[in-house]
Amino acid sequence: MNEKERIIELSNCFGPSGFEDDVAAFIKKELKEYKPDEDHMRNITVSKESSKSNKRVMIDAHMDEVGLIVQAIKPNGTIRFLNLGGINRSSLPGNSYLIKNNKGEMIPGIVAVKPPHFTKKNEIPSNEIEEMILDVGTSSKKETEALGIGIGSPIVPNVNCLYDEKRKIYFGKAFDDRIGVAVGIEVFKRLEKEKLKVNIYGSFSSQEEVGERGILASANRIKPDVLICLEGCPADDTFQEDYMIQAALRKGVMLRHMDTSMITNHRFQKFAIDIAKKKKIDIQEAVRSGGGTNGAMVNQTLGVPSIVVSVPVRYIHSSYCWVTHEDYEKAVMLVLELVKALDEKTIAQF
Ligand SMILES: [Zn+2]
Repeated sequence: MNEKERIIELSNCFGPSGFEDDVAAFIKKELKEYKPDEDHMRNITVSKESSKSNKRVMIDAHMDEVGLIVQAIKPNGTIRFLNLGGINRSSLPGNSYLIKNNKGEMIPGIVAVKPPHFTKKNEIPSNEIEEMILDVGTSSKKETEALGIGIGSPIVPNVNCLYDEKRKIYFGKAFDDRIGVAVGIEVFKRLEKEKLKVNIYGSFSSQEEVGERGILASANRIKPDVLICLEGCPADDTFQEDYMIQAALRKGVMLRHMDTSMITNHRFQKFAIDIAKKKKIDIQEAVRSGGGTNGAMVNQTLGVPSIVVSVPVRYIHSSYCWVTHEDYEKAVMLVLELVKALDEKTIAQF
């Protein structure tokens, strides 16, 4: 499987928070030469302990995507649901979703709000999740249950990833953080024969979108000295004024100095920026007024310097996202150059 096919498959994988099984199985297959380890939260870890140094560099990407979960089935067969993670509510109505039933089959449905034909004059349908329904084309609770749908069934957008070879751009779901997962897999593939000055650990963690839950289990096992967090970050080049654009498509990797969860260790951040400049890898520096990552969790709880290497993704947390192959490739290049350059002395200075 080539990199493009891998990115497409990862985007299509079913894996809302807490239900990352398909993504985990895919990663285990792709990195089988590293003998992946797995815990019961479905966190996957791999290692390349080739160095005499005792320094441990962790590279993490989260496997989960934002999604929905069945809360109740109404007497008329339509479904009430809750969100798994911060899904963009205004992107829900009118879009198609897939529910994984109790046999593991995918059942399609549509999220609906009160149609204009039935709203009163000047009535605007609510975009509260409690007011929306998911309709699987049934007319009774019994019929919906007969499809194998029940309380707790997980749901993701019904989107098949497309790739435009001419423009080298992907159009699909879940690039937060499947593009980070793709970067992580490719980094380990390219590192296979490399001799490094530190030990490298890969972590593909679960449940990030519901409050960075899986990463701690992984970090406690790996006990890293530094963390490189791989993310798909919201591209801001469609609604921001030019001077505020810090994560545009085709402008390279975004390195954040701050978001609402972490002030990045500026010594590690400078090391990364200097390497990017030296190796002529395009980067975009950012100070974010929102957002949070797994980097913050490890930084705060284990006191480990962390940086976040992000690939810009347009319309993150919605059904359809744009991401370019060149930004992905630059993230792979930057992470490879970082792990090749890291050594005991440098890490001690962070
Ligand atoms: Zn993310």
